[in-house]
Amino acid sequence: MEDKQALQRDLLNVIHWFHARGWAAATSTNYSVRNPDQHTYTISRSGVDKGAFQLSDFMEIDAQGKALEAWNHLKPSAETGIHTMLYQNPDIQAILHTHSIPCTVYSYLHRAKQSILLNGFELLKGLEGVHTHETEIELPLFQNAQDIAQLSLEIGDALPNYPRTPGFLLAGHGLYAWGPSIAVAKRHIEVFEFLIECLLRLESVQR
Ligand SMILES: [Zn+2]
Repeated sequence: MEDKQALQRDLLNVIHWFHARGWAAATSTNYSVRNPDQHTYTISRSGVDKGAFQLSDFMEIDAQGKALEAWNHLKPSAETGIHTMLYQNPDIQAILHTHSIPCTVYSYLHRAKQSILLNGFELLKGLEGVHTHETEIELPLFQNAQDIAQLSLEIGDALPNYPRTPGFLLAGHGLYAWGPSIAVAKRHIEVFEFLIECLLRLESVQR
């Protein structure tokens, strides 16, 4: 198992890569990984430009989202409650969140829906457990909200309906995805970002 410092370096690389792709504008987005002790978490602190994010901008929290003592002076991401809710699933080791233009626009356009159906695309095979493009994956879509405690409850209640889907959209806001490692969570973000951009382009040519 990787040690905590190695996990944090891996997560930092992902943050910089996502920022370079334009998926983390204006200090937005947040990132976390389960620490090797399995019951505390490393998470990005609030309000930092993700292009300039450093190892010292990570902080550690408990399962309730409270800063561990050494990080009491820092503020965790505003969306920490979503991360701690997701980590109640012991299979989740890393959670990543992007604010790309395609996911923001597409989820806003379709904000009346409860989920987005993905099928027929080769890149679906980038999701864990998917071995053919001939599959249907439903990506849940939730209304955006600033009451993160309430939103987390709503998401937590709905996710068991989507057992094959390692992510969800927030309307007009962005994408969350997770996985059993940072590398797989990153791959899941890339798959969903790619497919949502495909759907957006398809809609624009079909109009
Ligand atoms: Zn966000």
